[in-house]
Amino acid sequence: MKEVYTLEDLRQWEAATAGEETPLRLAVFGDPVAHSRSPQMHNAALEACGIAARYCRLHVRPEELAEALRLLPRARFIGANITLPHKTAALGLLDAVDDHARKIGAVNTVVVEGERLLGFNTDGPGLLRAVQAEFGVDLRDLRVMVLGAGGGAGRAIAAQCAIENCERLVLVNRTFEKARQLALELKPFFKGPRVFGPRPRLEAVPWEEAKLAAQLTNIDLVINATSCGMKRTDPSVLPASILQANLLVYDTIYTAQNTPLMEDAQSVGARAANGASMLLYQGVLAFEIWFNRPAPVEVMRAAMER
Ligand code: NAP
Repeated sequence: MKEVYTLEDLRQWEAATAGEETPLRLAVFGDPVAHSRSPQMHNAALEACGIAARYCRLHVRPEELAEALRLLPRARFIGANITLPHKTAALGLLDAVDDHARKIGAVNTVVVEGERLLGFNTDGPGLLRAVQAEFGVDLRDLRVMVLGAGGGAGRAIAAQCAIENCERLVLVNRTFEKARQLALELKPFFKGPRVFGPRPRLEAVPWEEAKLAAQLTNIDLVINATSCGMKRTDPSVLPASILQANLLVYDTIYTAQNTPLMEDAQSVGARAANGASMLLYQGVLAFEIWFNRPAPVEVMRAAMER
């Protein structure tokens, strides 16, 4: 199996994969895509379940996405995952999109059903499962602050919090206008009768230390959905001086065991987890959509950690 396949390969898939013992019937579409850990996780699951199919990486540029998706039935694919930068564009290129993915505004999982392509989103539900697994709590019971709410992951996470009707949702983004816009979009989810004191249940807040510090006194869970922290030299997204021991901190970054934000959170006694569990559970949920059976979670976890 090649490390990365291209649209040209997909156009003549049987020929491009002729040497394979087991047919390649699942892929992750991305640009770039070479870093994706999804093949190792899904191939371990396919093997453990005795399914005669393999999962690979497909480098697909934005202008190639529509054609690549339409080639899936002819190449006899079971489905695909969609990653950066295609999650929003894919929404408009499929035959049907599940209600949850439509609410989130992005697709990360595609199912091929005959000639039809069906879209789902497991990023938000993956985060939900990850928070339960890491901290033993449900999003709906929490006051949540999302840092990086204007990015792709941040939007999906914020929408999931809104769908769960969490107690409070505070949206923060370096470019404030994106957080403000998202707050407007999510307003209908917070119209319900739940009232928790004088603080609004949904707020967009500018990225200013004093404002964030004031907000954090009314927050249970901070989620970092920015890309700041991916490099070892990145600063922590929040200064340790405004963190408190009672906070739960979930950093969606999974390239490091401990990110700068996690280290700062732990230094004040707060509990912190990295994004590996979100990556795992979005994959688990995608597998369950494709095969309509429970995924071998521990096999997938072990494969991802290797
Ligand atoms: P994206 O769409 O490019 O969004 C990047 C976000 O980070 C934007 O909100 C951006 O703010 C913000 N940002 C970038 N540098 C910043 C800085 N120095 N200070 C403050 N904010 C900064 O990327 P994405 O796909 O959403 O990915 C974002 C993060 O989520 C990445 O770390 C990725 O690893 C993680 N992620 C994890 C999983 C998982 O399964 N664990 C899945 C998807 C993504 P502006 O809007 O102002 O540019």
